[in-house]
Amino acid sequence: MSLPAKKTNKTSETITEYEYRMLNHDMVLKYDDSKCVECGFCHRVCPVTVSIYDEVLKRTAIGTPEEMKIPSDQKTVVDTDKCIWCGCCTWICPGYTLELLINGENKLLLVENGSLPEFEEEIRTLDNGQKVRKVVEGSITITCNEKDDKLIEAFVAECAVDAMKKEGKSITVDKDKCILCFKCSDAAKRYDKIDVRVYRDRFKKVKGEPGSVWNGIMLRVLGKEGKIKGIKSKSQNKLADSVLRLLGRVETEEE
Ligand code: SF4
Ligand code: SF4
Ligand code: SF4
Repeated sequence: MSLPAKKTNKTSETITEYEYRMLNHDMVLKYDDSKCVECGFCHRVCPVTVSIYDEVLKRTAIGTPEEMKIPSDQKTVVDTDKCIWCGCCTWICPGYTLELLINGENKLLLVENGSLPEFEEEIRTLDNGQKVRKVVEGSITITCNEKDDKLIEAFVAECAVDAMKKEGKSITVDKDKCILCFKCSDAAKRYDKIDVRVYRDRFKKVKGEPGSVWNGIMLRVLGKEGKIKGIKSKSQNKLADSVLRLLGRVETEEE
């Protein structure tokens, strides 16, 4: 086998390992489909994204099969041609669905080198026993003008953490359960009479001093309108550069 080598290994019915093997590093991004709550945070945080926020995301290394144009029955897939094994998706994943293993050890180099801060977590347990954490604070409003009960029920079922409830012809959200993700607002695009507004105001309190890549992450995930305009690949690629330097590589990927 020539090095570096990239491989996708399905190690069990639900676990897929995306591997990048170099001379001194064996990097594995491990994904467990049974834990994925389809929240979309990984897709937004991935630094391989090149776009301004209010346009359709053009390029990212992780997302739904539809977003990635990779046929799969998994909820989330990784494009190994684009992935740089930085672990940002692991760092943010509310479902504890992703792990980054470096030479077999669970590691987040970007936290270790101070590029990414740790943030306080608010963990809760779903009815099926799975742990989910809330990583941002903010609010959500849902306007439902739909009268068809079946459509309202189908929309409520979109939420993987059981935060939405149908009450008559309205939809209520349990604020304790809601993780302020991207799932229902994306789904609402398929429903003419249901409108969702999610305001991700801030990350949960961060610990320590945020590094230089933090602003780019905030803008991509929180997407404050007005501030995000003009944020292009260069500032976002600081994160990629940081990882590549850690791995002893200096080149960056081009758009
Ligand atoms: S490891 Fe980094 S580059 Fe790869 S999918 Fe996750 S966030 Fe994107
Ligand atoms: S961040 Fe984690 S739980 Fe959310 S969609 Fe990505 S892999 Fe699934
Ligand atoms: S109700 Fe909250 S947790 Fe559920 S899909 Fe919508 S934003 Fe995500």
